[in-house]
Amino acid sequence: MRLGALEAGGTKMVLAIGDENGHIEKRMTLPTRTPEETIPPMIAFFQENPVEALGIACFGPVDLDKTSPTYGYITSTPKLAWQNTDIVGAFKNALHIPVGFDTDVNGSCLGEATFGAAKGLSDAVYITVGTGVGMGILSGGQLIHGMMHPEAGHMLLTKHPNDTYKGHCPFHANCLEGLAAGPAVEERWGAKGIELAPRAEVWEMEAYYLAQAVVSLILTVSPKRVILGGGLMHQRQLYPLVREQVKTLLNGYIRTPQMADLEHYITEPGLGDDQGILGALMLAEKERTHA
Ligand code: ZN
Repeated sequence: MRLGALEAGGTKMVLAIGDENGHIEKRMTLPTRTPEETIPPMIAFFQENPVEALGIACFGPVDLDKTSPTYGYITSTPKLAWQNTDIVGAFKNALHIPVGFDTDVNGSCLGEATFGAAKGLSDAVYITVGTGVGMGILSGGQLIHGMMHPEAGHMLLTKHPNDTYKGHCPFHANCLEGLAAGPAVEERWGAKGIELAPRAEVWEMEAYYLAQAVVSLILTVSPKRVILGGGLMHQRQLYPLVREQVKTLLNGYIRTPQMADLEHYITEPGLGDDQGILGALMLAEKERTHA
């Protein structure tokens, strides 16, 4: 089955042609400019490479409620040119094929749960820590939407006792993204993540914040695996630090085989940087088969 995938990001668009087994035969990347500039060449790509269905894993916020008049829209995004853009409609009207749609992070979670580090699991969380922090959640085999969709990157945290930084989020003084995403780390410490690599206090604080988020997820959605990805997680010293802090914060309360094996439970992605585009491919397959 020939399927199309679009991983729509705030800085770039990744398009691919592939199949339901995750084989990708062709890709194209475009910078994200305005909808008027960026959507037509993407439509042209899928017209030149016809597919049976398309999946879009999109930056947001987005409207995922199929009963809503603005289903398939990018809604209140800080990328102003894309506010109130009917991205699903644009492809549906031009291509006349089923179009699956979800958040970029839910797409990544689906990719990892289908082909990657959470392969075959019904419950998993994918957290990306980069320019922002996003989380995709698969629960009972379904990507969680709810009222809108999870925005767990903005969950509120307890500040580290040594942290005097004001936070980088315009909405919250102490949310995960505002305290732990790339721009926050850079502003707090006055250097790029990569230059901060040898400074233990930087990563101890970062792990303290990430671990709080992981603990809250363990206690609410009870995932069977937690995948930490994104640019900041290239600092691989974070993984053991996060596991250690999770263990400390849970303090023995949750007793499952997974908690006794945090090395496999809190893990790196299995698909490199391809979880988003492979997840989008699976969104196409799900829409095609109404799975
Ligand atoms: Zn926030």
